[in-house]
Amino acid sequence: MKLIKITRCPKCHASQFTITKTNYLKCEKCNAEYLKAGDQLLFNSHSNDVFEQDSIINSKSDPLRHWKTGNLMSLLPNDAKQSLLLNLGAGDGSDSEFLRSINFEVVSTDLEYNKNIDVIADAQNLPFKDNTFDYLVMLSVLEHVTDPKKLFSEIYRVLKPGGKLIASSAFLEPYHAYSRFHISALGILQLLKDNNLKIKTLSPGWDIFSALGIGLFPFLRPLRPFLSLLFRFIISFRTFLMIYLKGKSKSTKLDEFNVSLKTYESLRFSGSVIYSAIK
Ligand SMILES: [Zn+2]
Repeated sequence: MKLIKITRCPKCHASQFTITKTNYLKCEKCNAEYLKAGDQLLFNSHSNDVFEQDSIINSKSDPLRHWKTGNLMSLLPNDAKQSLLLNLGAGDGSDSEFLRSINFEVVSTDLEYNKNIDVIADAQNLPFKDNTFDYLVMLSVLEHVTDPKKLFSEIYRVLKPGGKLIASSAFLEPYHAYSRFHISALGILQLLKDNNLKIKTLSPGWDIFSALGIGLFPFLRPLRPFLSLLFRFIISFRTFLMIYLKGKSKSTKLDEFNVSLKTYESLRFSGSVIYSAIK
């Protein structure tokens, strides 16, 4: 798939481009020029000097790093059938590598340049046409943007009708890497609803013990399975007491969304929230 086919100008929203002799993508309507480096497109204005930057990421992390958290993996289809997927905020591109391996056609985008990203662009003003993607994956990105409302309206715009959002975002995990908006499950439901995205699943990501433990002492990372187990034990015990001693109902509601009391309690103390929604 040629990226240029799904691209629109982030300045004027036109989708007719010419490629200049100096290898720029030039908008035919507003004459804005964007650097084309091999197959990569650079729409972020301060990316044009990236090749002189020292901070270019060349190494990748474990492609399954995010997917091992909570029920994220189960939100993917069994057969992706070359569905077109936007990996928004793809970072070092390791998630994209995994998504390609399970048969998605992946477009990776991020604000910062690195060699594993297809399109360098602002997630709050995406250079893609309306109704383009079958799937949109956004892992640990929401907390880093400056305007969550704009981000969600762009997600809605670029997804095809019936297209699926698969996402995780920070809630109680510590401040990190310029994170701004750590949002509760109820806040996520509101962002989805305000942008006409229909919630499908809502579940806890990693737990508060792991998030705070590893945040305070990164060398505790190998103990994460133990911290998770301890957390799960405490939540299960608490939920048991609430149901059988205090007579609480086994299920409850977050806004209009039904969750079990155990999920509700886990969400209250989760480092991150995992969710999926349909346009
Ligand atoms: Zn333009």
